[in-house]
Amino acid sequence: MPTLVFVESAEGKIKKTSLEAVAYAHALGASVTAIALGAVDTAELESLGKYGAQKVLHVADSKFNQGVIQAYASVLTQALADEKADILVLADSSLGTPVAARVAARTGSSLASNVVSLPDTSAGFVVKRSIYTGKAFANVALNNAKKVISLKKNAAEAKEVGSTASVTPYTVSVPDTDFAVKILSSEKATGEVLLPEANIVVSGGRGMKGPEHWGMLEDLAKVLHAATGCSKPVSDMGWRPHHEHVGQTGVKVAPQLYVAVGISGAIQHLAGVNSSKYIVVINKDAEAPFFKAADYGIVGDAFEVIPKLTEALKAA
Ligand code: FAD
Repeated sequence: MPTLVFVESAEGKIKKTSLEAVAYAHALGASVTAIALGAVDTAELESLGKYGAQKVLHVADSKFNQGVIQAYASVLTQALADEKADILVLADSSLGTPVAARVAARTGSSLASNVVSLPDTSAGFVVKRSIYTGKAFANVALNNAKKVISLKKNAAEAKEVGSTASVTPYTVSVPDTDFAVKILSSEKATGEVLLPEANIVVSGGRGMKGPEHWGMLEDLAKVLHAATGCSKPVSDMGWRPHHEHVGQTGVKVAPQLYVAVGISGAIQHLAGVNSSKYIVVINKDAEAPFFKAADYGIVGDAFEVIPKLTEALKAA
């Protein structure tokens, strides 16, 4: 029985978190069928084969260019039945998480979100979930035959294991009532790299003293091809836009590298960054709590360290 993987895209490109979902499904051992909705480059769809998909279903209808949760859930429910798949894997995201819940409710599936491990099948089907904003883990048994697994970012490595996959057009009729919400327009926030998707994030806190000093962080971000983020007070004071606010009450990020500049490391900020692979902290106070969560730290004045770091990276 194949495992179905819902893959998300942005501007025609498959998201990295969805490549991780395909790799995770491949590691489950069964054959993998991926499904994408809306406008996606064909070469991108074919390339899913590299990560373990044998087959790719593409719902090309432009009605699905926008991520309308209810309509997506209808398509995935139908695809699970058509493919005779018992497991749906998808990435935890603002789209994936609500879609997962709806599909699980419609199909009577066991649902686990924020999953960070492959299942232990020695006593049923037990997966590890990240809980309490990454501070603890829970082992949960998925007891129903049908299962929906949404995967935490960076929980699986998108390793190349195959070559290209064949892409099959897939049509499914979805009632108009599923399109109850329509996005009339959308625009990119700021910067070139989107914060939730970024591999590298350069984030600034109150230690940056004011919005006029952000150019320095933007220069560093540009050299690193990084997105910019900030702490909550920084966005509350209007130094930076709210969508850059990282933490418990803001965006949760899971980049390969998180660079925190002039941020003290309050628990509410850490809740949004503790899934990062590496954390670098730059702070003039050696006692700043963030250093305890850091892989690397620089004790120093950001106004001296950042320009030097940027120049060194440019020269590298
Ligand atoms: P500060 O705590 O003031 O730290 C500034 C740091 O900059 C200090 O460590 C200082 O040593 C350093 N510094 C100063 N000058 C320099 C210099 N020249 N060079 C280098 N370092 C320098 N916060 C979030 O960020 N995200 C959240 O989602 C969030 N949610 C919250 C939810 C609740 C319910 C509550 C109560 C709080 C929340 N907070 C959140 C706020 C959080 O508790 C902290 O107050 C906040 O994170 C502190 O921001 P900061 O580190 O930028 O500022």
